[in-house]
Amino acid sequence: MPSEERLQRYADLALRVGLNLQEGQPLVLSGSAESRPLLRALARGAYRMGARAVVVDLHDPVLGRIGLEEVREAYLDEVPDWFVQARVHAVDAGAALLSLADEDPFLLRGVDPARLARRMQAAARVRRPYLERVGAHKVNWLALGAATPAWARAVFPELDPEEATERLWEAIFGTVRLDLPDPEAAWRDHVAGLEARAAALNRARFAALIFEGPGTELRVGLAERHVWKSAVAQAQNGVRFVPNLPTEEVFTAPDPERVEGVVTSTRPLNVAGTLVEGIRVVFADGRAVEVEAERGREALAAVLETDAAAVRLGEVALVETPNPVFDTGRLFLNTLYDENASSHLAFGRAYPDTLGIREGDDAALTAAGGNASTVHLDWMVGSPEVDVWGERADGTRVPLMKQGRWVNAAR
Ligand code: ZN
Ligand code: ZN
Repeated sequence: MPSEERLQRYADLALRVGLNLQEGQPLVLSGSAESRPLLRALARGAYRMGARAVVVDLHDPVLGRIGLEEVREAYLDEVPDWFVQARVHAVDAGAALLSLADEDPFLLRGVDPARLARRMQAAARVRRPYLERVGAHKVNWLALGAATPAWARAVFPELDPEEATERLWEAIFGTVRLDLPDPEAAWRDHVAGLEARAAALNRARFAALIFEGPGTELRVGLAERHVWKSAVAQAQNGVRFVPNLPTEEVFTAPDPERVEGVVTSTRPLNVAGTLVEGIRVVFADGRAVEVEAERGREALAAVLETDAAAVRLGEVALVETPNPVFDTGRLFLNTLYDENASSHLAFGRAYPDTLGIREGDDAALTAAGGNASTVHLDWMVGSPEVDVWGERADGTRVPLMKQGRWVNAAR
């Protein structure tokens, strides 16, 4: 376990540069029981920053798995909304939200996929009023990593549990630049760089992006109304915040009907406990018409069968490599980290704000040319061997990334 002082430093950084908790703002913290030391540091930091109240939602992921396995068939599609209502109420009362990403990536390994799918759909239905508020940035919120023994075991299977947990904490701290002399200044700088990059891409108004690398020759048409977004978000309560720590990406909405060519994944992907490796997808008219994987294809195929739009893209993100997440050389088996290791694509749903509209209106999302699927699955396609071009409407190409690095300074 990191020292109390180091945990406090991490908590304070997250509350300041991530969540940007305001004087007098209530806070809802959530995480697993194993993350108590960090939750305590966050509560302490929050009160010192002037939090009005800190409410902690402590859960045990294993209990969730027990419910999934044991509940009778007849009740499988019923998920009570009591707890969701409490969250909705908190958001409507102006509370900031901080959720820890600390789960065991293999928690659901071996669970009957049909039961899992039904349960997840039921949970998604019940959680919708809450997720819509979060997606629409009604309040400032943050997803933050916390090393737990079960997660660490999955990331460092070769180490003994205690050492693995220690190593995972160090990796997490590295990704947020915690050990730089002034991590807060480093973050302000980093975030400003990402914002400048997104602004430059918005000025360029490319019609498409071209990816070229080993096993990849892909044209991703961009939605006509696409907006490039970066790490920074503006909540409806007026607070500017950075919803993910770490964050290395700028991202936008592809045109779900204009993606052509072949693309090969550059990193494995954890899909509900199954490791999917060596993904190769052929796109025609925006549809994934051939989907292969060296390992774990069924898990990927199951996601793509969720609805008709799941086989089309909803996000394209550019991430410079190397970067502090990539540099760890590890697969975290958690999207918060792995998607920030390299450029990525997502099957399924688009972020409405990448089309200039607010979360919660699927008809508007579709009308704006975005993907309104219910799933969103990120997979990594960038590396120091992949080049990216921007293509204008007249077909001329501008180099954006060479061997994983931005070609021009954004500022
Ligand atoms: Zn992304
Ligand atoms: Zn994504």
